Amino acid sequence: MSHRLLDEAIPMLSQRAQASFVSSDSELSPEVQLTDMNAHVAVRRSGTSSELVTLFRLAAMGAPGFDRAAGRNLGIGDDQKPSEKSEDYEVSKSLLRILLAALKSYDPYIYSHSQRVALIATGIGDKLGWSESQLRELEVAALLHDFGKISVPQHILNKPGRLNSIEREIMSRNLFNASCLLHACRVPLSIITMIIESERAQIMKNRIQNVSQYGTSIGARILAVADAYDSLRCNQVYRSGKSHEDVMQILLEQSPARFDSSVVSALQHWIDKDAAPRMMYEGEVNQGLANEPVDDRLETVLAERNIHQIMQYLVSLDEHYSGFYLVNHKLDILMWSQGMQQITGKAANDLIHSDWKPELLSYFNEKRKLIGLEQQALLLAHSSKKSVLSTYYRLNENEQMNEYEVQSIPILNEKNQVLGVLEILFNQESVLKGDGDEMQQLKLAATRDALTKIPNRGELERCLQKMHEGFQKKGEKETFSAILLDVDYFKSINDSHGHAVGDRVLIDLSRLLETETYSGEIVGRYGGEEFVVLCPNTDLDMAVQKANRFRLAIQHASIGGLPHAAVTSSFGVAQIERNDVVSDVVRRADKALYHAKETGRNKVCSLTRQEQTQDLVKKQDEAKQSISSFEYEQTLTACTSSDMIIYKLKAFLEANHAVLKEVESERVLMQVGRSGLLTAWGKTFDRQPVELLMEFDKQRRKQGAQNVAEIKVTITPVVKPKSVDNFQKRAAQVIRTLKEYLASS
Ligand code: GH3
Ligand code: MG
Ligand code: MG
Repeated sequence: MSHRLLDEAIPMLSQRAQASFVSSDSELSPEVQLTDMNAHVAVRRSGTSSELVTLFRLAAMGAPGFDRAAGRNLGIGDDQKPSEKSEDYEVSKSLLRILLAALKSYDPYIYSHSQRVALIATGIGDKLGWSESQLRELEVAALLHDFGKISVPQHILNKPGRLNSIEREIMSRNLFNASCLLHACRVPLSIITMIIESERAQIMKNRIQNVSQYGTSIGARILAVADAYDSLRCNQVYRSGKSHEDVMQILLEQSPARFDSSVVSALQHWIDKDAAPRMMYEGEVNQGLANEPVDDRLETVLAERNIHQIMQYLVSLDEHYSGFYLVNHKLDILMWSQGMQQITGKAANDLIHSDWKPELLSYFNEKRKLIGLEQQALLLAHSSKKSVLSTYYRLNENEQMNEYEVQSIPILNEKNQVLGVLEILFNQESVLKGDGDEMQQLKLAATRDALTKIPNRGELERCLQKMHEGFQKKGEKETFSAILLDVDYFKSINDSHGHAVGDRVLIDLSRLLETETYSGEIVGRYGGEEFVVLCPNTDLDMAVQKANRFRLAIQHASIGGLPHAAVTSSFGVAQIERNDVVSDVVRRADKALYHAKETGRNKVCSLTRQEQTQDLVKKQDEAKQSISSFEYEQTLTACTSSDMIIYKLKAFLEANHAVLKEVESERVLMQVGRSGLLTAWGKTFDRQPVELLMEFDKQRRKQGAQNVAEIKVTITPVVKPKSVDNFQKRAAQVIRTLKEYLASS
């Protein structure tokens, strides 16, 4: 596999920009770097904050020797921002090498993925008629597109499939930190923008209808397609890579909402014409690195370690402080954190490489007087070479004073010369309100299932609620479906392999579901071995297809280390419908799932409201039929006049929660027992409603001095009783009571 940039493009790039690299590469020659790194090690031993020094050194790398003349050679004039024309402004190859080496040492998979994405992206760009310089930018962007992942916690990084909102937040923070670092390394703005836009479009993907109209540049859209193509083609932990045809199908399905259709067809063209891209995925994917010579030069190794360290340092600054920024000894701004953007309303893109001015901060003292130039802590730290801690105020939008603890830390080299100053701002409220590490952990814990780390039931219900609200407001445009799945015979998996294997099955299954969902679905654990996949913008047919895809994926995977097909699942699917309350959709899916279980398992069943109603009618008919087998008949004789009988019946009615339904001369029909909202046969007699029909014999016989009336009593249940026995008891009890009333005079 050829890596354009590494093998060819770097020489090409340096040829093209030969003049500009003369100075930059000599500044960054291995010897120089080695000396620098040695110096760095020395500084570390002497106890100075090594991270800060490294941070600054790295930040300085892109601006060789902080030399304005060299900067000019690179197309960075004294007062001008980097030109976006790539002819004038390229990434230094040494820098690129170090950045990539850092990426490679952090995660070889990301590194090889980035290389393939670069190849694909430039292939697409080529088909779209991009110029060489544009292609080079695209290539660098592709190579660095995952750089932000370098400080992302491994569990998030290695989570296959979609990230949840908090994890995405963590990712985007890191993306920002990476962009900060890339800015400081003087990677061109156009490249950084491409990376950020493509990532942002992915983060927004559920909310946009058409990615081309979302304001992402064409470069970002190419990057997104190339990234998705490679991810889908490659082996993931639980499934082998998909075929080219399958991947193209997925990309097309998600155009134009997530992917630009013209970019997807350019990709198709390129792959049709060129054998290389297909070969990339034959056999050696994910092992591509094994054949590569290891770059074990000391400076590279050190740089890798340092970059990782720096990224982590940036992350911790970002998390624990309100904002930070870095200037060099000439007071050019090299870094400007996201927090600084929030505090000042000034964007990093506008400030990087421009001069620091007190107006950028507008610090006040406690008497509401602006801090003058001579009192600025940054300058004091610069001149005194000592850290300065001050309390400053800033006016917020309501003209109120916000207090900041400001730390200005000079960064010195081994000769005690000032390289620059790092300033850190801390505002109690903003940091407490913000999502610190612990806050995020808490948030994660509250919404995650502890075993599988996917959304728990509460989180699923919150998402469902939101989706339901969307559907109520926008109707069909915001339709969605729910897929409910339950592992088949899970109890016996536990029984025969142990609980630990059972747990592993649940974890693997979650990962598999996440890998199989890439259209903004939310996968959560509903409880036990039951999972829910909420599918936005998905109608019932699509959802059934999706469920079948999951079903086959589960069947064909080796889950929990068990053989293929040892674990299967049954699925119930339902789509939201008009007049549904929020719980209806899952309830219908649950009914469908029950049906799938009843009719053989390892299958998908769906249910619509209409089917459910018809089903209900059918069930009621069935119930009625079965009820007819419950009947209790007895003939009583009552020694009393018919007037008297009516009188006595009234007392019976009152005492036994009975209501008269029909009264004729020969017959009386009443219901005994309550049948309220709950139509089920209850536990107490009182809650076991029956119909009581009394038919009076027309012929009254004289028996001694009294009239004797013969009454045929028939008792039938109103709802289906638990059992015949249960009904018999109830019927006998009704008759007994009735007799008591009729007998007493
Ligand atoms: P069916 O095909 O009808 O779904 O049968 P089943 O055995 O899967 O269903 P049943 O509801 O009878 O059993 C579910 C089992 O899941 C029982 C319970 O012990 C087990 N279970 C629930 N939560 C966990 C868990 O977190 N870990 C493990 N190992 N087992 C669990
Ligand atoms: Mg089960
Ligand atoms: Mg179950």
